[in-house]
Amino acid sequence: MIGKIAASLTWVALRKIQFYWPVNKQSTINTDKSELMKLVGLSKAYDKVVALDDVSLQMVVGEFIALCGPSGAGKSTLLYMVAGLLGADAGSIDVAGYDVSKMSSFEKTRFRKEVIGVVFQDARLIPYLDIRENILAAAGNQNRADQLIVSLGLEGRTSHLPGELSAGEQQRVGLARALVHFPKLVLADEPTGNLDDVSAEAVVSGLQNYVKDGGSVLVVTHDPRVLSKADRVITLEKGKILL
Ligand code: ADP
Repeated sequence: MIGKIAASLTWVALRKIQFYWPVNKQSTINTDKSELMKLVGLSKAYDKVVALDDVSLQMVVGEFIALCGPSGAGKSTLLYMVAGLLGADAGSIDVAGYDVSKMSSFEKTRFRKEVIGVVFQDARLIPYLDIRENILAAAGNQNRADQLIVSLGLEGRTSHLPGELSAGEQQRVGLARALVHFPKLVLADEPTGNLDDVSAEAVVSGLQNYVKDGGSVLVVTHDPRVLSKADRVITLEKGKILL
């Protein structure tokens, strides 16, 4: 009898551990190495349009990589695949030990909430939530939110709705939302496109501070204000990385 009870308790404990265990974590990840992201042989076509053609790229922890290239080169396609927002036709995507290409949609949602932060060109805030609520909508804690509100110059705007903010202020909120849960990697798609200098400077400083604190950034950009801060600039053209 006692044996049966012990077995049941062990089973319940194991189920709990499994529930809290990170999603689809590969057993092969070597945490001694500082590799953060590894893309191997990524390809994607939209019908007959080839967007990515056998792209491989590695990134280490603490890197700030800018991805540039002409319109239609496949930059956004690559970024959204790493974010798990778009499926690949071929290839593998490893981010911090998570095998993104094999995750279920539930796991991808959790991955975006816990492991990465995404900044879109348009901030994509929730219109009926105020600024503080937007920053904390998916994850994070109050202290971290307060710290970001101050460092991104958003004090005094926290109880406003997004529609009452300028595009630049909205983008700073978008960045705060992406950073509030201390993600391992921030993916940003033209985050300073169309921003005034003050807001662009705030966004660039925000990204730089996050990298100084141990974060990593992969940003699609043409903006010299961002390119000048990158450790590496990778150019994509016709779905391939220019060497
Ligand atoms: P970039 O971000 O470098 O401008 P994209 O990744 O947006 O490039 O697009 C790469 C190519 O894929 C382009 O030729 C684009 O027209 C095409 N493409 C992107 N999204 C779609 C889609 N949903 N349907 C069809 N073609 C698409």
